Amino acid sequence: MNENSGLPNPPERERKPKINDLGQHEICCADCDAVLLIMMQTEETDLINKIKVENCPKCGGESWINTLVGKYFYAQAMGVTIKSMEFDDEKELMRIRMT
Ligand SMILES: [Zn+2]
Repeated sequence: MNENSGLPNPPERERKPKINDLGQHEICCADCDAVLLIMMQTEETDLINKIKVENCPKCGGESWINTLVGKYFYAQAMGVTIKSMEFDDEKELMRIRMT
């Protein structure tokens, strides 16, 4: 149900993010599995965040849509720079673009 630039993507690009040893959530590229963004929870709330990272610096791919509940601090993963963050009101999705 996700219209995507004509690439042969699987129908649903949505899954739970990985959680590493420090309790941080890592958002990875769906195509090459590079860690693109680290989410650190700062507060437990009912806030729902839907996050998608675009333009993977390694392969040009994108992450799955990651759904996280709570308040989060966004951190760049090593070697990755955030170029822009834009909230898509229609889809209630935070799109984060890498350089
Ligand atoms: Zn990638």
